[in-house]
Amino acid sequence: MPVLKEMSVAEITKLLQEAGVSPSIQRIKILQFISVNEKHSSVDKIYQDLVSEIPTLSKTTVYNTLALFVEKKIINSITIDNTEILYEQSQKPHAHFQCNVCNNVIDIDLSSSLYGIKKIENHKVEKVNIHLRGICNECLKNGSMK
Ligand SMILES: [Zn+2]
Ligand SMILES: [Zn+2]
Repeated sequence: MPVLKEMSVAEITKLLQEAGVSPSIQRIKILQFISVNEKHSSVDKIYQDLVSEIPTLSKTTVYNTLALFVEKKIINSITIDNTEILYEQSQKPHAHFQCNVCNNVIDIDLSSSLYGIKKIENHKVEKVNIHLRGICNECLKNGSMK
């Protein structure tokens, strides 16, 4: 899996323009936040982390911006356990591992033949969503148990 690094403002501006989205400062900041490697962020998390930097930011703006990015296929929305919706930058299909201790969501490359599946029993597959749960390596190192 290619490692996604935090993108520069120039890279993000280009990406937004190519997707037909006008690159406002707020949109650039939100996409830059999501572009950090393995970051799966909720609306609340994005809002809380960015509002100190952008005092004019509202939760509605974050929500609307994310909806626009999803529509333009710049980012993906994922739901784990039907609780919170998380957002991540678009990349090839992968599984999600969620830690029972710290709740972190980590991308897992399964190198699975599922990636190539376009059809199952004549149903058209548009999205592959695999969720795994357990204790992540950081929490195991810290000796945390649930
Ligand atoms: Zn953990
Ligand atoms: Zn992911």
